[in-house]
Amino acid sequence: MKEPGVLHKLSRRIGLIKPSPTLAIQAKANALKAAGRDVISFGAGEPDFDTPDNVKEAAIASIKAGFTKYTAVGGIDDLKDAIIAKLKRDNQLAYERSQVVVSAGAKHTLFNIAHVLFEEGDEVLVPSPYWVSYTDIVYLTGATPVVIKTRMEDGFKLKPAELEKAITPRTKAIVISYPSNPAGVCYTRKELEELAAILLRRGIIIISDDIYEKIIYDDNQFISIASFSEELKSNTIVVNGVSKSYAMTGWRIGYAAGPENIIAAMTKYQSQNTSNPTSIAQKAALEALNGPQEGVLARGREFQQRRDFIVRKLNEIPGIACPNPQGAFYVFPHVASFYGKRFGGKVIENSSDLAAYLLEEANVALVPGADFGHDDHLRLSYATSMELIEKGVERIRKALLNG
Ligand SMILES: *Cc1c(COP(=O)(O)O)cnc(C)c1O
Repeated sequence: MKEPGVLHKLSRRIGLIKPSPTLAIQAKANALKAAGRDVISFGAGEPDFDTPDNVKEAAIASIKAGFTKYTAVGGIDDLKDAIIAKLKRDNQLAYERSQVVVSAGAKHTLFNIAHVLFEEGDEVLVPSPYWVSYTDIVYLTGATPVVIKTRMEDGFKLKPAELEKAITPRTKAIVISYPSNPAGVCYTRKELEELAAILLRRGIIIISDDIYEKIIYDDNQFISIASFSEELKSNTIVVNGVSKSYAMTGWRIGYAAGPENIIAAMTKYQSQNTSNPTSIAQKAALEALNGPQEGVLARGREFQQRRDFIVRKLNEIPGIACPNPQGAFYVFPHVASFYGKRFGGKVIENSSDLAAYLLEEANVALVPGADFGHDDHLRLSYATSMELIEKGVERIRKALLNG
C-alpha cells in the first residue's frame, strides 16, 4: 500500500530485531491450511491440549462476578500468594509478595526484566540453541546478547569452561532455561552447581526461565538453581507462567520472583506500559495453580509417549540424527547431511532452505534451526496428535528420500 506524504523513519532499535520466527511459521501454516492445503504443522510453540475446565469455569465466574476492572499493577494478592505457595511446594523457594510480579505472559516478564536491568554496553549470556526471543529481547534494551554455542555431542549442555571463557567485565546476566526450548536439555544438580559457582563468583545475575518445569521426562527432576543457597536466590530471578504447564498460552499470564528491588522496578515499568495483566486471566491462573494438579502430570506422560515415538521415527530416516530430548515438547534433529544436495531442482544450503522445501514438497511446517542459533538442525514441535506425528514424519521421510 502506498501512502502519500509522510516518511516513517523507524527507530534504530526496531531494525535490530525480527518478527518471532516461530509465530511466523505457525501463521504461514495456518494461512496455507485456510487456503485449502493439507499442511501438517510441527511449528507450534504451544500445547495442543485444551485449557482445563476448572480454569475456564473460574474465568467465567470472575466475569459474572464483575471482576473486570483494573487490578493492582503487579497482580492481585491472591494470585501472588498462589505463586508463593507454588514456589515453596515445588521449588523449595520462599518469597514475600513484594518479591513477586505478575505480567502478561513469561515473554512479557522477560522483557520487563531486561528493560529494568540492561543498557548499552552490557553483555548478556545466552547459551544456544536458545529460545528465539532471548536475543531479540536483549537487543531491544541496547545491550548485546553473547551467544555461547553448545555442542550436540555434549547434549547441548553449557560446560563450565565455556561459560568461564564467555564472561567479560561487561557481562551482566545469563539466561538459562531447562528443560530447554528447542533441545529439551536438562541439567543435573551437580552440573547446575558447577555453573552456579562460577556465576556467583563473577557476580552475574541469573535469569532462570522455568516455563517447561513440568514437562520433564525419564528420571530427570527439575531443580531450581535459586534453591541451592540464599546467596544464589538473591542473585536469581525465577521466571515462570501458566502457558505451557496448563495449556493457557492465550490467557497471557507469566510471573517473576526475585530480589525486591528488581521486582519493584519491574512493577514500576509495567505501570507505564501494560498496567495489570488481564483481571479475568489472573483469576484463571489462580485456579490453575491452586486447583487439582493431576492434569499436569497426565499431559506430561502424553508428551513423553509422543517424544518416544517421534524420536524413533525420525532416527529411522537415513541422514537424520535426532537426540532424545529430556523435556519440553520439541525435537531438534541434525539434518546437515542433506545440505549441498539437490531437492526439487534446488540445492539445499541451510536449515531455511530445507524447511522451505519440506513445506513446499511435503506440506509439513517446521522451524529452521538457524532461528535458534544452530543452522545444522530443524525444530519440530510434537504438541500435536500421534496420528499427525506419524503422518507428518512419513511425509518428511518420503520428501528426503525421493529428493
Ligand atoms: C513459550 C515460552 C515462553 C513464553 O511463554 P508465555 O506464553 O509468554 O508465558 C518463555 N520461554 C520459553 C523458553 C518458551 O518456550
